[in-house]
Amino acid sequence: MTLEQEGIASAGWFCGYTPIEILDAAGMAPVRITGERASSGVADSLMHTNICPYVKACLESAAGGKLDFLKGAVFTNGCDAQRRFYDIWRSVVPDVPAFLLAVPRRGDDAGALAFAARLAEFKDWAEETFETQITDDKLRESIRAYAKLRKALAGMDDARESGEIDMPGSRAMEIYLEAQKTPPGAALDMLEKEIAAAKARAATGNAAKGPRLLLAGNMTDDPELARMFESYGATVVSDALCAGSRFSSTAPPDPDIPPLKALARAYLRKSPCPRMVDADDYASRLVRKIEATKPDGVVFHILKFCDAHLYDMPFIRDALRSAGVRTLIIEGDYTSGSGQLATRAQAFLETI
Ligand code: SF4
Repeated sequence: MTLEQEGIASAGWFCGYTPIEILDAAGMAPVRITGERASSGVADSLMHTNICPYVKACLESAAGGKLDFLKGAVFTNGCDAQRRFYDIWRSVVPDVPAFLLAVPRRGDDAGALAFAARLAEFKDWAEETFETQITDDKLRESIRAYAKLRKALAGMDDARESGEIDMPGSRAMEIYLEAQKTPPGAALDMLEKEIAAAKARAATGNAAKGPRLLLAGNMTDDPELARMFESYGATVVSDALCAGSRFSSTAPPDPDIPPLKALARAYLRKSPCPRMVDADDYASRLVRKIEATKPDGVVFHILKFCDAHLYDMPFIRDALRSAGVRTLIIEGDYTSGSGQLATRAQAFLETI
């Protein structure tokens, strides 16, 4: 059953720098929006062709009335595409209130201070829009619930990487996506069942033993990408994706400081998106993940027109080369792959 069918009020979000604890504390189910894969052309009539295909896919859903069930939607200035989407949303979905959250590009103390002030505005908007009061106690409760969920997701990743559980990368991606569309308590229940089943599978000793791959990139929310590599015998052991392990990389906010300040610090210091000024941090964390998981190859999937990732690609490519790992870079268009992609995938697997 969908949240709407269950009568659970939902609020939509798009960017990983959105502190969804504030939506949860407002009594909303935070739902990460993933868009339509098929295009009817409406988004093309509303936005320039050279705009992020994920944003356009979400606009397609919005224009098609598929997001009318939301009680509100939160955008960030994470990139210009999101920024433009917010502008258009207000005319395409006027009945669903929208908020634009300004996210600093630095995770230092000054950045955290500025972000905390923006989060106070976000909280005010949520209280007014959802007609509720968000107390510090409610916020701390939501912070604990999401910290628990993220810890369990990170535990799932560690267990996958070590072989303690037998869980295909495509299934792990589905679980991550589900966890970002489900209230944290229910998501944790779902996750614990999945991990128990994967542990039982591992005990049979039949886990796939093909070339080990790590998937990296931006808003790749299609398990079909991992499934394609798995169908050619690879084992997707880990990821560094925006809607994957970067979601669980937010450290538990400090319980000893005011919750909005704690959220601001925690989100700005999570595994970064290339939109953040410190590109070194992005590349070095990726290299550390590679050293820890020892993949035979890295597949870097970037949605086209994503300036933040494309600007950093030469830098990231050098970092991957220095890590001595074979890398396949794929530019995606938010469709579920093509024959050409399949050929490149097979050729890459033959080289590792
Ligand atoms: S994939 Fe890139 S362009 Fe698209 S929403 Fe994310 S950061 Fe923006």
